[in-house]
Amino acid sequence: MSAPPEGRGLLIRGGRLCDPARGRDEVADLYLSDGKIALESAPAGTPVLEVGGLLISPGFIDLHVHLREPGFEDKETIATGTQAAARGGFTTVCCMPNTEPPTDSRAAVEFILRRAATHGAIRVLPIGCITKGRRGHELAEMGELAAAGVVGFSDDGSPVADSRLMRQAMEYSRAFGLPVIDHCQDPALSQGGVVNEGAVSSRLGLVGMPAAAEEVMVARDIALAELTGACLHLAHLSAASSVEHLRRAKALGLPVTAEVTPHHLALTEGRVMGVLGPLPHKLGPLPASAYDTNAKVNPPLRTERDRQALLAALRAGLIDAIATDHAPHTLVDKECEFDDAAFGISGLETAAGVLLTLVDKGELELTTVIAALTAGPARLLGRPDLGALRAGAAADLVLIDPRAEWAVEPAQFASKGHNTPLAGARLRGKVLATIYGGHIAYLDPALEMKGAPLA
Ligand SMILES: [Zn+2]
Ligand SMILES: [Zn+2]
Repeated sequence: MSAPPEGRGLLIRGGRLCDPARGRDEVADLYLSDGKIALESAPAGTPVLEVGGLLISPGFIDLHVHLREPGFEDKETIATGTQAAARGGFTTVCCMPNTEPPTDSRAAVEFILRRAATHGAIRVLPIGCITKGRRGHELAEMGELAAAGVVGFSDDGSPVADSRLMRQAMEYSRAFGLPVIDHCQDPALSQGGVVNEGAVSSRLGLVGMPAAAEEVMVARDIALAELTGACLHLAHLSAASSVEHLRRAKALGLPVTAEVTPHHLALTEGRVMGVLGPLPHKLGPLPASAYDTNAKVNPPLRTERDRQALLAALRAGLIDAIATDHAPHTLVDKECEFDDAAFGISGLETAAGVLLTLVDKGELELTTVIAALTAGPARLLGRPDLGALRAGAAADLVLIDPRAEWAVEPAQFASKGHNTPLAGARLRGKVLATIYGGHIAYLDPALEMKGAPLA
């Protein structure tokens, strides 16, 4: 990382400033000074970065990433994962606790915070386990974790199957004012499943996970949120039926929030069969690209109907945040039989491109996308200092060329995980620079060549 010329600040001039938290979407200049967004206008002689035609957004916040360290450094480290995040326009990520050891103790939280401070390119906020070792039998020391600085509790990767234990977890989390984040999936209903249950699982001869496996757990969790008054955050919603439960919960005024991933917004189960777009009425011979393990993800890619319901829920503000569920894996984890392959998509570096491509296609509004990457997650975290370009706040922002077309090349990822079903896909909309606390966390060569006074 490098800083703008010492003491002189930086004037970012002529960009389209999109800041949903403050209701702003206009061409405006932005002056950064001492790592913060400055209130006053830039003094004469301030270095200028001309960004006409570019979009300026508050730095993105990802509520759900897997940084894999400690324990799985062959898949990702805090260094490589945060570099990938910076490339994706993120200045804050919340990391899930399914590491080895899992984040179920003060020492484990402190390890992550220390590592992030010394090796991280951006801000890392740890999420602590709900149960000891994520085993689902006994609550973790939630008070100790809260005191150590976790921003929520989750056994992500697994749900908390025991409803009584989940109730207790919610009662504690309420006392600490932190959300419980659940990976909603009935383990008995989804057992052995590797794709969505339906036409594609039948055609491919794979065990399916029905949408109902998600729906029943969403319904249970909402009932427990109502019982306990705890904040419940539903991770990676994938099914239309789940959205209906969320709608009901919000109508009742329950403290329930939800996130959706870029892959569930953009792709369907057809991708596992090698089909892009809607499935043909009659499923013919399988293309060579069928059984692509890079499209194996949990919860699975579902139907076009589910995808449309998720898009509509995001547009309507029912879904609060877009989170990547960045799940990097090694080649070996994915280059095997479909049944044996690991679940997950390396998503940090394609998220902005995927979402802006949906904007380009008219499926989402730009302000909806930016809000779900900034103001929405900041509100969930209770951090008004993040996700907005407020004077006096840390200069966390991202510069985007919404028209730039580019092809996804996993070999170029900063992430160690090259597992993406989007290899070769052409996306429209590219992150050109990510500024974290006034420092350059990522700079695209295209901007570097324009002579940006940044590096
Ligand atoms: Zn999960
Ligand atoms: Zn996850």
